[in-house]
Amino acid sequence: MSTIIENDKAYIAGTYARFPVALASGRGSLCYDEAGKEYIDLGTGIAVNIFGFADPGWTAAVTKQLSVLQHASNLYYTEPDTRLAKMLCERTGMKKVFFSNSGAEANECAIKAARKYSAMKKGADTFTVASLVNSFHGRTLTTLAATGQEVFHKDFTPLTPGFLSVPVGDMAALETADDEQKLAGVIIECVQGEGGVAALPEAYVKAVAAFCAERDIPLICDEVQCGNGRTGELYAYMHYSVTPDIVSTAKGLGGGLPIGATLLGEKVENVFAPGDHGSTFGGNPVCCAGACEILSRLDDRLLADVRRKGEYIVDALTGAEGVKSVTGLGLMLGVETEKPAADVIAACREAGVLVLKAKNKVRLLPALNIPDDLLEKAVGILKEACK
Ligand SMILES: *Cc1c(COP(=O)(O)O)cnc(C)c1O
Repeated sequence: MSTIIENDKAYIAGTYARFPVALASGRGSLCYDEAGKEYIDLGTGIAVNIFGFADPGWTAAVTKQLSVLQHASNLYYTEPDTRLAKMLCERTGMKKVFFSNSGAEANECAIKAARKYSAMKKGADTFTVASLVNSFHGRTLTTLAATGQEVFHKDFTPLTPGFLSVPVGDMAALETADDEQKLAGVIIECVQGEGGVAALPEAYVKAVAAFCAERDIPLICDEVQCGNGRTGELYAYMHYSVTPDIVSTAKGLGGGLPIGATLLGEKVENVFAPGDHGSTFGGNPVCCAGACEILSRLDDRLLADVRRKGEYIVDALTGAEGVKSVTGLGLMLGVETEKPAADVIAACREAGVLVLKAKNKVRLLPALNIPDDLLEKAVGILKEACK
């Protein structure tokens, strides 16, 4: 065993079932382990390295800011976070942004905004937030409560009270939840990631949005994984022609540095007052400078290319030997295979392709700018592994 792996097992808390690879470096969609073996990366650090490893534009933006002002605290004004917030609002129509460090934190803020809005509007007994079965919203005790998968809850109860999950497609369950428990918010992932890479049905998302609008319940779209160009629109809700009241995002926005963002729409734009919320590293200048570079490159041409590449993968794998189905949207895809997903993933890794797992599926989250030749080669290897 390598020293890295030995030391990890000796000193790092055992929360991760890691693949037996110690990554040492990367460039674009290629990366190398400590022995120098080359891999084509179709996982991007779980949708984070949106333009691959060591992207020159992002690296330049980050290092430039790093040498000028690396941190200031939120006691002072700084430029990069204001630039990023303005870009996010202009691109989405949202009104205000709160910055944090992760997806879980972005969701915590979204939940606090929804609860405060609803408590002020409807009374302190309106605090319950509804999520969907099979959702994933993070690992803090509150975002775990919002996560509609029991498997993540066990051993950690009691979780934050005031959460329930309803099945996808079941509008009656959502109506009953509000009638009986007074909903303060509804949180959805338009394309569920950890739950099995599944795009929600269009009619259902539209019905949820209409229900929330009619009953004045803030609708939260968790765009932590499916956002930032991943599905071929800037944010996945844009495929559905709905307007959420709150958008949470993280992962790809930072291009490889930690950032979370909670976008507040018109309904909740002024819900927070000084002291209501905060985060020491929130709006960090280096992270925000990198995110500005990422966001500025997620233009129509790039998004069209994401859709084209996604269609290429779907066409190549649909009906292939050993492939049962391909789900998802754009470059966020799940492949249900006849063999166990873990076996397919291991065979890919042996052959030099890194892919991920979600439930029983092989999950693909390649860099949005992966070159066509590398994508074709990787898909060819995946196809062989599925046989
Ligand atoms: C990854 C993820 C989160 C949690 O993000 P962290 O940065 O790990 O806290 C929340 N929601 C969704 C949809 C995610 O995929």
